Amino acid sequence: MSGNSIEGVVAPPTLFAQAAANVYNRSLIEASLDPLVTIGPDGKITDVNAATEQATGYTRDSLIGTDFSDYFTDPERARAGYQQVFRENFVRDYPLELRHRDGRIMSVLYNASVYRDENGNVMGVFAAAHDITERKRAKEAIRRANAYNRSLIEASLDPLVTIGLDGNIIDVNAATEQVTGLDRATLIGTDFSDYFTDPEKARAGYQQVFRENFVRDYPLDLRHRDGRITSVLYNASVYRDESGKVIGVFAAARDITERKRAEEEIRRYAEDLKRSNQDLEHFAYVASHDLQEPLRTMSSFSQLLARRYRGKMGADADEFLTFIVDGATRMQTLIHDLLAFSRIGTRGGPFTLVNCAEVLQSAKENLDAAIAESSAVIIYDELPTVLADSAQLMQLFQNLFSNAIKFRRRDQPPCIRVSAERQSDGWQFSVRDNGIGIDPKYFDRIFIIFQRLHGRDEYPGTGIGLTICKRIVERHGGRMWVESEPRSGSTFFFTLPDARRTHDQQLTTACAAN
Ligand code: ADP
Repeated sequence: MSGNSIEGVVAPPTLFAQAAANVYNRSLIEASLDPLVTIGPDGKITDVNAATEQATGYTRDSLIGTDFSDYFTDPERARAGYQQVFRENFVRDYPLELRHRDGRIMSVLYNASVYRDENGNVMGVFAAAHDITERKRAKEAIRRANAYNRSLIEASLDPLVTIGLDGNIIDVNAATEQVTGLDRATLIGTDFSDYFTDPEKARAGYQQVFRENFVRDYPLDLRHRDGRITSVLYNASVYRDESGKVIGVFAAARDITERKRAEEEIRRYAEDLKRSNQDLEHFAYVASHDLQEPLRTMSSFSQLLARRYRGKMGADADEFLTFIVDGATRMQTLIHDLLAFSRIGTRGGPFTLVNCAEVLQSAKENLDAAIAESSAVIIYDELPTVLADSAQLMQLFQNLFSNAIKFRRRDQPPCIRVSAERQSDGWQFSVRDNGIGIDPKYFDRIFIIFQRLHGRDEYPGTGIGLTICKRIVERHGGRMWVESEPRSGSTFFFTLPDARRTHDQQLTTACAAN
């Protein structure tokens, strides 16, 4: 006989084993971290473990015999729960909220089943609660983060879309609904490329993303269901699942309809301007050219008249004749100048690589007499080779030199210095003199055709020299301006871009800046 004795009492072996098993079972129940409870058919608690005491804040004695449903935020639901167990023998993952006596709430999922006596009669419900407060909190955090992300996606003014590997739309935001005129239920599952004026190009776009992982500023025209077109630039990249596998394309469109419209308007404006400039130049050319002939007749006959009849028609008539001859000569000069001006745009030569030093030397030679007569000195630093119309470049230097000589001070011979400075996009030239200078208030006026600051008796000229210079510089895509102070000499600046920028481009830039 085995020795199962407690304090000398010999217990029947089965009874002892049962007692031991009981202690063992109970210890497991108590060790459980999940609150466990048994409930009688009347809904009263018949037993609890330590975890239940902890979860409710009540001792087992005060719990046993009380209504199970009393310890939940929603007693009705708790009651419905154990009643369901009595009815259906079990429930799984039944959600409830346990209320601690201090008010703390614990979210739990109940698994519960009926338990029976040896005869198989249902005695009550055994219910185990699993604390899911933390899990719920984490889930809620994810839900909130998700809702936040979604709200950002929806708030985006840019139409956003995700496209699956098959080219079908997976998801869209409100802006996509707006730009297509279709709701998301209609859009999702359909071919992305269906919504563009050029479906092939749209397809090529997302295929490029799958191939190269992204595209930037991919231009497409989105078609609204009512036919309206929205020009967009797409930025798109692939997105991946947790394992890093590419599962789709995320594409964001930027509406550039307005930008395109503005660009088109600028282009048209520039074209109109170019045309009207050409018309004007043409008009100036034709007018001055055709005026030359009758003027020549008037001029030669008035001179003939003067030669033959001077002194025969009285002093008044002689004086009038002089006025007519002078007027005709002056008009010839003006018309000649106008013709020269109109020829800059219409009769300009080709742009070639031009050595500025050589061109400057030619300009100097053309002014030999004036240079010698005034003892002028022209010096220059190292000058670059530029892309230009060499004849016009020479005329530009010549006009500036001849002005510097003409508007010299009486007390010193003219000294002219030419320099060129490298800039990011070309060269800045300067032609500095030591002449009479210019009052800053006339800086703009002197570049206007036939505008002069002096009478013809003081300094000869028609006032077209600088207008021609400026026009030449502009034809080359550069700018021209002056800096000066009266009596301290003047410096005329002009820029020449590296590569030839057309007149059009220049206008476009100027318009865009406004
Ligand atoms: P013009 O020489 O026939 O008068 P321009 O168009 O060449 O015509 O010059 C316009 C005006 O600008 C001149 O009348 C003069 O008053 C002023 N100007 C031009 N160049 C110089 C200079 N180097 N120094 C001082 N004044 C100048």
